[in-house]
Amino acid sequence: MSNPLLNIENLPLFQQIKVEHIGPAIDIVLADNRQVLSELIAISQDSLGWENFFNPLEDMSDRLQRVWSPISHLHGVKDSDELRQAYTENLEKITLYQTELDQNQDLFSKIQKFANSKAMANLNAAQQKIITNMIRDFRLAGVALDSKAKQCFKDIKQQLAKLKSSYEQNLLDATQAWTYHCTEQSELAGLPETAIAMMAEQAKQKELDGWVISLDFPSFYAVMTFADNRELRRQVYTAYVTRASEQGPDAGKWDNSANMVEILKLRQELVALLGFKNYAEYSLETKMAESPTKVMDFLQQLVDYSKPIGEREVKDLNDFAKQYFQQTNLEIWDYSYYSEKMRQQQYDISQQEVKEYFPAEQVLNGLFEIVKRLYNLSVRQVQGVETWHPDVRFYEIFDNHDLVRGQFYLDLYARTNKRGGAWMDECIIRRAGKGIVQIPVAYLTCNLTPPVDDIPALFSHDEVITVFHEFGHGLHHMLTLVDYAGVSGINGVSWDAVELPSQFFENWCWEIEPLNLLSRHYKTGQSMPESLINKLRKARNFQSAMQMLRQLEFALFDFRLHSNSDMFSQEFIQQTLDAVRSQVAVVNTPDFNRFQHGFAHIFAGGYAAGYYSYKWAEVLSADAFDKFLEEGIFNAKTGELFLTSILQQGGVKEPLEMFKEFRGRGPEIQALLKQSGILPAV
Ligand code: ZN
Repeated sequence: MSNPLLNIENLPLFQQIKVEHIGPAIDIVLADNRQVLSELIAISQDSLGWENFFNPLEDMSDRLQRVWSPISHLHGVKDSDELRQAYTENLEKITLYQTELDQNQDLFSKIQKFANSKAMANLNAAQQKIITNMIRDFRLAGVALDSKAKQCFKDIKQQLAKLKSSYEQNLLDATQAWTYHCTEQSELAGLPETAIAMMAEQAKQKELDGWVISLDFPSFYAVMTFADNRELRRQVYTAYVTRASEQGPDAGKWDNSANMVEILKLRQELVALLGFKNYAEYSLETKMAESPTKVMDFLQQLVDYSKPIGEREVKDLNDFAKQYFQQTNLEIWDYSYYSEKMRQQQYDISQQEVKEYFPAEQVLNGLFEIVKRLYNLSVRQVQGVETWHPDVRFYEIFDNHDLVRGQFYLDLYARTNKRGGAWMDECIIRRAGKGIVQIPVAYLTCNLTPPVDDIPALFSHDEVITVFHEFGHGLHHMLTLVDYAGVSGINGVSWDAVELPSQFFENWCWEIEPLNLLSRHYKTGQSMPESLINKLRKARNFQSAMQMLRQLEFALFDFRLHSNSDMFSQEFIQQTLDAVRSQVAVVNTPDFNRFQHGFAHIFAGGYAAGYYSYKWAEVLSADAFDKFLEEGIFNAKTGELFLTSILQQGGVKEPLEMFKEFRGRGPEIQALLKQSGILPAV
């Protein structure tokens, strides 16, 4: 077999994969899959079972996943024009194939009939869960509708896709259109050198002298946080919060008002076809939260605890501005600015000093030691595995019988042609059968500061947290013991629970004992002094109630908006937001603010009636970690229980059930409130 992509006996052959292999490999896999599918559909209903039907279905998707995974990964970490083109072309083919599957009426009715037969009861829990999920997803994709409704469903989907992209385009155009040209550097007083350099670069690109401030986030953020010039802050704030609306300097030019109303209307029509009362109910169908009432109560509880503390934080900030800067009557464009001044005065942490304690090797050794203590697993590096770049390392995780549980690629540093951010992705998903185990393999990708000359890579505390976050996702993927890909590792895990293992693992970056393992000054070899650790810990909760309330405001607005089923107008959207603000906010928002016109997460992205998930997962992870605080953060028994009840079980059970197995009860919000300093830590 000459196409290295089709050789899936072992790990991907990264050194041999070339762009010209992509199209032929995908064509072969898709043709084979379509052939197998037609044979599966032809099996008579009575003889249908796991081995002759569902297992081959899983083989199909697993093979496609294994062939596509290195392509998609290379697109993220080693992009080129040719690769991008091949990626896009083949992704289209795969999407088309996937849509065929999702809309396959014969496949759906076969699976549904099987699920209603006696044979279903003979399957194990994982197999049953996979079939139940399949039927749910078929339904949500509209397969069960009659032909007229089905057409309607498709039309709405298409219109929604157009509206979402128009919303996004308006926001992008509005963001790019507005700039502020500075000709006197004195106007930029207070800004860090890096921000000023960025603005000079932006001016150069526009062939202008001086500096250009734009509404891109880094530029907006720098002005709001550091610019001494109050009038400049006001102007930049005003332009930013009125983007794509009927207000502000570009009023009406890229107005998203009509898009928002149409999107909400069409979403309601779509879910009504499927029999849901509103979009919120539809959204929760695939999530851990049981009902809209639960979500609303959950958010409201967090508001009740946070609001008095948030009010105190606002008062403290006002007092600070008055005492040290003789500034009274803070406007909204003053908040970030004086907050930064206050943060500097109260915590005075040198990020450079912190970095010197986190050389890459020590952070990794410390992390692996933490995994050892928690789960009795050893992580060992393997040399000689083919990768896509010399910096990439390969590791194996062994259990205490020296059996391999999982493997991972670690690609730590920022490079050109590598997508920004950090993520965990699946290379190989665990499956087992007939005595053979397909070992799970993960890609852990970050964009951290690379080493320079003879100085090792030094990580900021935030960067250490990023490594832990992705490693937490990685452990979820690699430590699973589920034998079926559909619910193995992160597969089939509800969307509002999938961040539990990652956010949970971040907690080890804030405790003294693990920090002793993670830190070693790259020159002196000393662990981080306790005084510096305490400063970091204290600074963690600066204005945490204000931040919490901001997130709750977004989450409540999103959820209320999508809990409505019959009122859709620009006024309704504004009134909903105003009502949420009057209940939640501790800082007054000016009337011209049009936050909703730029809230792409819910109008253009996948977070509609799902923005609450951020807080939901934080509550789960803080509450899970709280058990370690109670029982000892390196308590091996607690670690074992987390491993067996959460990390190993993938998506076989409902997340609430797994959480209860670990915690002995359902999740409670107190741990997060304590962690954020909103409730006193006892
Ligand atoms: Zn994550």
